[in-house]
Amino acid sequence: MKQYQKLLLGFVLGVVIGLIGYYYVPQKSFPFMKSFTDICTLTGAVFLRMIFMVVVPLLVSALILGVFELGKGRGLGAVAKRSMAFTLILSFLAVIIAVTLTNVMQPGVGLTFDKEALASNQGVLSIQKNVQAAKDKPWYQYFIDLIPQNPIDSAARAFGGEIIALMVFALMFGYALSMIVEDEDNPFIKMLDTIFKASLKIIEWAMMLAPYGIFAIVFNTTYRLGAGFLQNVAYFAGVVVLGLLIQQFVVYAFCLKVFAKTNPWQFFKKCQEVYVYAFSTASSNATLPIALDTAENVLKMPAKISRFVLTCGASANQNGTALFEGVVVLFLAQVYGINLSIENQLVVVLMAVLAGVGTAGVPGGSLPLIAILCVQVGVPPEGMGLILGVDRFLDMCRTTLNVSGDLVIAKLVSETVPAEISGDTHSNISA
Ligand code: ASP
Repeated sequence: MKQYQKLLLGFVLGVVIGLIGYYYVPQKSFPFMKSFTDICTLTGAVFLRMIFMVVVPLLVSALILGVFELGKGRGLGAVAKRSMAFTLILSFLAVIIAVTLTNVMQPGVGLTFDKEALASNQGVLSIQKNVQAAKDKPWYQYFIDLIPQNPIDSAARAFGGEIIALMVFALMFGYALSMIVEDEDNPFIKMLDTIFKASLKIIEWAMMLAPYGIFAIVFNTTYRLGAGFLQNVAYFAGVVVLGLLIQQFVVYAFCLKVFAKTNPWQFFKKCQEVYVYAFSTASSNATLPIALDTAENVLKMPAKISRFVLTCGASANQNGTALFEGVVVLFLAQVYGINLSIENQLVVVLMAVLAGVGTAGVPGGSLPLIAILCVQVGVPPEGMGLILGVDRFLDMCRTTLNVSGDLVIAKLVSETVPAEISGDTHSNISA
């Protein structure tokens, strides 16, 4: 059985058994049910903690490496700068779409949540305290807090609201590294790469536990709440897909037409094979070879530009992921009845854009980042359990947009850099 089938099975079983419990054993104190829900709480928490525990090493190494890669293209200075600018602008637009759609369509509103469970979750993560502290802050303090006093201290308190400062440190550090380190064989870069890969390995283990974790979380939720939340999850998935479609067929189409003077529909048609590959693997990294091949041999882009942009983009440009993260955080805030202020929504936008840069291009790569985002704005990250059952499908959809975005940026860059940089040196590669 494939992994996504197992996840789906965990989700379906959690719903079915939870509903049976909800309707036939409504007394939550019934001894067997009490032990069963306790075991589920344990399983769900272990699963989520495995993801949470690699958040700091994964995020720091991925961000430093991502910025290092973007910044170091010395011979390709103009290309690097344009890639970075397009990455940020398109991610920003993606998150704006996410925030607008979620605010207008309100997929999480109307779902009553177990207050007791909410209170205990908040106890664990001191979320209440953060929310209160955030409310008492003067405006300039937000800017001061962007710069960490001590990055190690920020890392230690990442789940206590210090994650943005840590991200800012990682971004600056990555950029500084790109200025002083010449080659990728530098031992420090290699060490960061190893930390990054080892963290991904742990995520892989967490994903092995995922079907049970999802069953446990979904069972506990359904047993407490009944059938109500299912409807919201389907609606939530619809909002995500709608957002992705708008980014692809409105934003990308517009940019291709206006800035690259290219017919967007023909461009999308030529990328079809890449889309199918991205959709079925749910991994930007796994799709990289086919994207490189298509860029050079089908779309006929200059090799030196497409190689640079696509390679960096596979890890550092994730528009679909940024959009998804924006929707998830606002959805969960609605589910938990947390009213996010404009400042907090801006924090979501900013962080989701940065998270798009720091997300690993692997299946489920965005899950740790979503946890961070939730904590930052006072939404209990355990709520992620509600959406994990549909996550594989949404992962396939957002990865397709991620890879599509890389190709669009490669096209925009190659059409906007001066001719002497892009050259016309189309070369064949065997990737
Ligand atoms: N699977 C996505 C990618 O590879 C990352 C994510 O959103 O989880 O692009």
